[in-house]
Amino acid sequence: MLTRRLVLGAGLAAAGPLLPARAAAPFRGGQNAGWYRFRLGAFECTVLSDGALDLGPPHPTFGGTAATAAEVEAVLRDARLPTGTLPGQINCLVVNTGREIVLLDAGLGPSALFGPGAGTIGQALAASGIAAAEVDVVAFTHAHGDHAWGIADAQGRDVFPNARFLMTGADLDFWTAESGLSLPEPLRSLVAGTRDVVLPRRARFTTLAPNGEVVSGIRAVPTPGHTLGHVSFVVESQGQALLVMGDVANHSVIALARPDWPFGFDADPALASQTRRRTLDMAATDRVQVLGYHFPFPGLGHVENRGQGFAFLPTPWRWG
Ligand SMILES: [Zn+2]
Repeated sequence: MLTRRLVLGAGLAAAGPLLPARAAAPFRGGQNAGWYRFRLGAFECTVLSDGALDLGPPHPTFGGTAATAAEVEAVLRDARLPTGTLPGQINCLVVNTGREIVLLDAGLGPSALFGPGAGTIGQALAASGIAAAEVDVVAFTHAHGDHAWGIADAQGRDVFPNARFLMTGADLDFWTAESGLSLPEPLRSLVAGTRDVVLPRRARFTTLAPNGEVVSGIRAVPTPGHTLGHVSFVVESQGQALLVMGDVANHSVIALARPDWPFGFDADPALASQTRRRTLDMAATDRVQVLGYHFPFPGLGHVENRGQGFAFLPTPWRWG
């Protein structure tokens, strides 16, 4: 096979020993900060990538005791996906209603708890032309670190200095309770990290009812199970709707193909499975567009019934 290295090597052979490929064309590494903009009725929406976290081996994180590693890997192989470790992407959504700028989930922030590769929401926000100071409201699907910790930087300072915060009472109470510091890992670390970012800003937090309104055109819908106070958001304008699922489904292939399989980070696996099937079934039946928080960027698509579960149909990238 003719490669750049062979071509360069042939040219340099007379002058001396073959140079290593990296010296001739060193790899650059890194990845672009991602943002994706689209219109939803009268709203301008922007998906911001906070990078990715490492979910580790697919089993038993997916499947638990209900499936074998081979069964989980077979689902991935059917979709032509690798079976090593699972990357979970992080897709936060900004909705500009024309009156207010609302951020739905704030990403992981600087924490390395889930491996390197996350914490890019600031870059993505700036690259998309939105100043962090312009964000009026941050509403959370739940209190886990990869959704809530992005409101503070590495020094604990405000990332969104002018924002008010909305979270359900069930999540706000459970994930900031001092008693949570006695829970086993990884729950203890999740509680500790959420306390670190929430408690210094507690006065700016308002309790969100599980079916409450965030602002006009954005409302919460109860989707409990992943956490007890977990909500999804329906964004609706001029007859167009988007269901921001949060962590109802945590992998675009596995969680859809086998919605009844438990997921390792679900607080109540049975309730979470029931919520997952009910939500995906509604999305498939009503043909409503969804946003999967951990799906491949930008995470937008539709859901269809397939086999004993569902399949995700990504929305093609649109320019303008
Ligand atoms: Zn998550």
